[in-house]
Amino acid sequence: MKAPAPHPLSHLFHPHHAAAYVSLMRRGVDHLADALGRTRRRPATGTTPEQAAKPVVDVDLDRPLLDADAALEEMSRLYLDDAVWFHEPTYAAHLNCPVVIPALLAEVFVSGVNSSLDTFDQSVGGTFIERHLIDWTAARIGFGPGADGVFTSGGTQSNLQALLLARDHAVAAGHDVATLRVLTSVDGHFSVQKAARMLGLGDAAVVTVPVDERRRIDVAALGPALARLDAEGLHPMAVVCTAGTTDFGAIDPLLQVAGLARAHGAWLHVDAAYGGGLLASTTRRGWLAGIECADSVTIDYHKTWFQPVSSSALVVADGTHLGHVTWHADYLNPRPLEGDVAHPNQVDKSIQTTRRFDALKLWMTLRIMGPDQVGDYVDAVVDLAAAVGEHVRDSDHLELAADPQLSTVVLRYRPRGLSVDNADRLTPLIRSTLYERGAAMVAATKVDGHAWLKLTLLNPMATVADIVGILDEVEAIGAGLLDAEEGAA
Ligand SMILES: *Cc1c(COP(=O)(O)O)cnc(C)c1O
Repeated sequence: MKAPAPHPLSHLFHPHHAAAYVSLMRRGVDHLADALGRTRRRPATGTTPEQAAKPVVDVDLDRPLLDADAALEEMSRLYLDDAVWFHEPTYAAHLNCPVVIPALLAEVFVSGVNSSLDTFDQSVGGTFIERHLIDWTAARIGFGPGADGVFTSGGTQSNLQALLLARDHAVAAGHDVATLRVLTSVDGHFSVQKAARMLGLGDAAVVTVPVDERRRIDVAALGPALARLDAEGLHPMAVVCTAGTTDFGAIDPLLQVAGLARAHGAWLHVDAAYGGGLLASTTRRGWLAGIECADSVTIDYHKTWFQPVSSSALVVADGTHLGHVTWHADYLNPRPLEGDVAHPNQVDKSIQTTRRFDALKLWMTLRIMGPDQVGDYVDAVVDLAAAVGEHVRDSDHLELAADPQLSTVVLRYRPRGLSVDNADRLTPLIRSTLYERGAAMVAATKVDGHAWLKLTLLNPMATVADIVGILDEVEAIGAGLLDAEEGAA
């Protein structure tokens, strides 16, 4: 006999359905744990876009499965079986981290309770958990008691909001929008350019400054660049320093740049999306010396704090600047009446309205693990990159683009005698072959117009031997490609 169909409302998260909730969530967790057990040492399966698209678009969404187990099986086939796993030591491509389990515990509550952090009356304690984390981060940065900030969807949004505040600050000071310029190094993140576009400043508003031999913004070039703007009647509305560039992990000389920015009346934004995890390090916090001089700082907890996406923050030294994004809506966050205490509404500081309670993930991480352990994870990947860098430097077949600074290693296969042109040609082939084999994933980048491979190391469990294994594979593929070419010639 067929079981009776469940009541149509039984899908809602509700006290009447608590048993069904627990049972379904347990099945989901078991399903994921099973998949986790099957991924061993293969970060990817090498699936092509065509192969990935076909089974998905073939699903008729108007013909539901009406069965959770069947839907889990289907989801595995369409997605999970070919997912890219960031916990595998042979995943070394982009700035994705393996995530910590305390944050996953929090995720259950973030989505189950589904608080929205825009107003106090939708989040209650959540508002203060977010605020306390912002205050804690601000204190780690070295900001004073006037600091404030807000969680955002990522570094891109944090940078956008920082530049929005900088723009409105400059306009409030009487500068004409058409004269506003943003300075960043040639290795600054592309979200700076995108922000300038979105803010209506135009592509020409971003002035890129060369980097020094360690790929940090060249202070000797920044001074003259600022002076040139002054001479042309333009205003440097912001200088964006990067604390951990995406390719080289370079940390711009924050103190020196801060002095120059201040002398020219520019807002100093520090994009620490990548390097921000050093705030938790018990041994390398000093690498961020000068960050306390910033007007605003971007921190991506979903990179070097091992948090699930999304988790990021914009922190500002003077919280009153956040008023540039405040708008009072009668239905949501009305302007307080004369004599009334303002409600603590986070929407007043955010460019989002409805907003996930992502802060709870970092909260549970700090409460269960403590910040020192997060910092130890960061130290582990920085140590790993240094050791891998040594290995590459000592290799006869590999070339190192620059000494590792944070946790990336930029290198290429180039045995003695191989021309740069040939290395440029081989490098993308080596990368795609690695991906197709599913044995390892590395990133590609260009340095001064030439092709390089990049390892981004964010897995504190990966060993030097794991990463050297990837490099051995790179060498073997490179040698195989050269052999095949010689055979064909
Ligand atoms: C990753 C990154 C960003 C963008 O952050 P998202 O969270 O991906 O939006 C910005 N700046 C730097 C330096 C980054 O590494």
